Amino acid sequence: MSMLDEKLQPMFEEVLRRNPGEDEFHQAVHEVLDSLGPVVAKHPEYADAAIIPRLCEPERQIIFRVPWVDDSGQVQINRGFRVEFNSALGPYKGGLRFHPTVYLGIVKFLGFEQIFKNALTGLPIGGGKGGSDFDPKGRSDAEVMRFCQSFMTELYRHIGEYTDVPAGDIGVGGREIGYLFGQYKRITNRYESGVLTGKGIGWGGSLVRTEATGYGTVFFVDEILRSRGDSLDGKKVVVSGSGNVAIYAIEKLQQLGAVVVACSDSGGYVVDPDGVDLALVKDIKERRRSRIAVYADERPRASYVEGGSVWQVPCDVALPCATQNELNGNDAAALVRNGCQVVAEGANMPCTPEAVRTFSEAGVSFAPGKAANAGGVATSALEMQQNASRDSWSFEHTEERLAEIMRNIHHRCLTTADEYGQPGNYSAGANIAGFTQVADAVLALGVI
Ligand code: NDP
Repeated sequence: MSMLDEKLQPMFEEVLRRNPGEDEFHQAVHEVLDSLGPVVAKHPEYADAAIIPRLCEPERQIIFRVPWVDDSGQVQINRGFRVEFNSALGPYKGGLRFHPTVYLGIVKFLGFEQIFKNALTGLPIGGGKGGSDFDPKGRSDAEVMRFCQSFMTELYRHIGEYTDVPAGDIGVGGREIGYLFGQYKRITNRYESGVLTGKGIGWGGSLVRTEATGYGTVFFVDEILRSRGDSLDGKKVVVSGSGNVAIYAIEKLQQLGAVVVACSDSGGYVVDPDGVDLALVKDIKERRRSRIAVYADERPRASYVEGGSVWQVPCDVALPCATQNELNGNDAAALVRNGCQVVAEGANMPCTPEAVRTFSEAGVSFAPGKAANAGGVATSALEMQQNASRDSWSFEHTEERLAEIMRNIHHRCLTTADEYGQPGNYSAGANIAGFTQVADAVLALGVI
C-alpha cells in the first residue's frame, strides 16, 4: 500500500500492528486515511485528541458460537460477529452478512466504512456491522430458520432500538430478518420494531427499503451525469451481482431509460444484447434461489460466461454490486479501454486500490460505496423513524426522501472536494465530509 502523509503513516502502522491478518480492514483504513492529509493539517485539534486512533479501534467487538442442527440431525457450529464500531452520532447501525468468507477482518472493514457512510446520510446513526461464516446456499428454509434463531439467542442481549440496530447484507434478506426478528420478540417479549431494519411491510418494515440501496446508487449516478450535462437515457450499463443491490439498481436504471446489458453471480455472468429481462432475473434469484446461468437457457439471444470478468463487457456506466475487491486493475483498464465514463460502487469496496487509481488517471468519474450505496442505510434510518412514530409512509414519499438524501450526499462530496482543493474527487469528498462530521462529535463527547 502507498505511503501516507507523514502524520498519518505512523497511525496506520499502529493499525497494522494491532490488527494482524485483517487485510480488508487494513485496506479500508488506508483508503480513508489516504484522503485525510489536508484535514489533519487544517485541524490540529484532531491529532491532539487522538481522534484517528480512537476511530480505528471499535468501541466493542463481540464474537460468539452459533450451534444449530441441520435437516439430517447433525450439529453444526458457526461463528457469529457483531462489531460496534462507533456511536458518536447515534446507535450502532449496519447490516449482518452470512457468507462463508466472513471473519473478523471483513466485519471490521465493513463496520469502519459504515461509520463514515452513516455520517454522510446526515441522519443520527453510528456505525457497526456483523454476520457469520454460515453459508445459506443450498440450505432449506427450516435450516436457515434454526440458524437465525440460534444466532439471535446470543445477539439479542447486545442490540436494541437505542443501542445497536442490525439490518441485512450479503446472504441476509427479508426471510432472514423475519426469523431474526421473531426470535428477538420471543426472547424479550417486546414488539420492539426499531431493533432491526429491513422488516416485512406488514410487520414494521418501510416501503422502499428493499429497493433503497440499488435505487440510491442509480440516483447518485444520475446526479453525476447531470453535473456533466448528461443523463442515463440510452446509456449502456453493466451491473455485477444479481442480489438485492444489483436487482434494484437494474430496476431504476431501466426506469430512467438505460440499457443494462450484463449482470452476474459468483458462478459467472450473462450478456443480453436486448437488455436484461429483470422479471426473469428476479424469478431466478428471488423465487427459485437458483444460479444466473439459468438465465441464458431461457433467453434466446443471451449468453452465459462461466467464471471470467463481467467488466470485459463494453459499457458507458459500470456498477459493481456484488462484493469486495471484485473489480481489479486489469478490469478497470478494460473498462477504460471500452469507453466507460462513470463507475459507482453499489457494493462495499468492490474496486481495488489499483482500479480506483486507473479510473482517476483516465478521468472516469468514480463514486465510492460509502457515498453511492448509502441509500440503503439511509432508508433503514427512515424505517426507524416510522417505527418510532408508529407511522408508515407511502412509497412515493419515502422514495422522494431517499432521492433527496442521495442528492445531498452528492452535493456534499463535491463541495467538500472543492473546499480541500480536489475538484470532482468523490472519494476525497466522501472521506473528508464523513470523517469531519464524526470527528467533531467524538471531540465534543470527551474521552469516553
Ligand atoms: P445479496 O446476497 O443479495 O447478493 C450478493 C450478490 O453478489 C449475489 O449475486 C452473489 O452471487 C454475489 N456475490 C457474493 N459474494 C460473491 C463473491 N465472493 N464473488 C462473486 N460474487 C459474489 O447481497 P446484497 O445485494 O445485499 O449485497 C451486495 C453488496 O452490496 C455487498 O458488498 C454489500 O455489503 C453491499 N451493500 C448492501 C446493502 C443492502 O442494503 N443490502 C447496503 C449497502 C451495501 P451468488 O448468489 O452466487 O452468491
